[in-house]
Amino acid sequence: MAPTGTDSFGRRIDYLRISVTDRCNFRCVYCMPPEGVPWRDPADILTFEEIERFAEAAVGEGISKIRLTGGEPLVRKGIVEHVSRLRAITGIEAIAITTNGVLLPRYAQQLVDAGLNRVNISLDTLDAKVFGEITRGGRLEDTLAGIDAAFAAGMRPVKINAVVVRSLDQDLLSFAALTRDRAIHVRFIEYMPVGGEGEPVPGGACSSDTTAGAWTIEDHVPSDEIVARLTAEGLAAGYGQLEAVARGDAPGGWGPATYYRFPGAQGTIGVISPLSHHFCGECNRLRLTADGKLRTCLFSDDELDARAVLRGGTEADLHALIQEALASKPESHNMRIGTLRRMSQIGG
Ligand code: SAM
Ligand code: SF4
Repeated sequence: MAPTGTDSFGRRIDYLRISVTDRCNFRCVYCMPPEGVPWRDPADILTFEEIERFAEAAVGEGISKIRLTGGEPLVRKGIVEHVSRLRAITGIEAIAITTNGVLLPRYAQQLVDAGLNRVNISLDTLDAKVFGEITRGGRLEDTLAGIDAAFAAGMRPVKINAVVVRSLDQDLLSFAALTRDRAIHVRFIEYMPVGGEGEPVPGGACSSDTTAGAWTIEDHVPSDEIVARLTAEGLAAGYGQLEAVARGDAPGGWGPATYYRFPGAQGTIGVISPLSHHFCGECNRLRLTADGKLRTCLFSDDELDARAVLRGGTEADLHALIQEALASKPESHNMRIGTLRRMSQIGG
């Protein structure tokens, strides 16, 4: 058997992403269909108590870092108290959240006071009209206010997640200005084939008017192209030469991003390349869905039923389940296209 906290390929697995809800106040075109996805029956969703019990067991199996995600994690009532109870578990060293930012003006300070360490805010464009189209009704000013609130509350680092989709109208260079005056770390993420089961169906994984209906290879922009675009556009706009940031100088993170910086900028620009550069060799995570399924890989539909164990099993059963997840974690996603569940249901 592999040592505690490692999988059968020798990778250290110390990071658990927990989806606390499948609900959301946005309907991003690459994440949900316009009508949303049918919400799970509330009885199917793990209670905070169940999540905390799972987290305690996970610590015993090597987990020390937790990220709360969703759906939109801040729409779940009681999230601040949940953060505080998770933070109190001995062995949990840091807690992060991934959010669309809309509710940060209300919660950022309370979250910091509860012990939240890090925040990733999703923002795919700085154009208000395009923002409304991508999120299907969201307001850019709300997410920008969320970024301000994160800074004011002392959250550091503040990272921005921007998913790049070729057929969406995204001005990538506009993000460079964000990094100039504040230590904001923008990470461009390759659009991933999650949801839609791989079939290009209307209303599928990406269902804007401008996309074909589901993830397609045409919509995928490889990170090398993103960097080349930023470099050329940055030079033309007088930002200077985009430079690689040494690993030691990059903002700390739990995932595999490569960082760059325009001369004199306080923040950085990173790229995350799940598809174009296989990073499975560095994978360090497990995922717990809002309905209590334990996933060993974002792209694999193989799930272990943690909810059944939480509701009918012993502590020993729970530990055995997590060990089984570690033992069965695949070596790579093998470029699989499409999953049964969408990102908002898995917890991106
Ligand atoms: N609602 C929160 C938010 O938007 O930050 C948390 C959940 S969301 C599913 C987590 C992240 O997944 C977001 O940054 C979102 O942009 C990203 N995401 C959703 N669908 C994606 C896809 N098909 N490819 C790449 N990233 C995706
Ligand atoms: Fe909601 Fe986040 Fe999905 Fe957008 S990406 S629909 S904000 S869960």
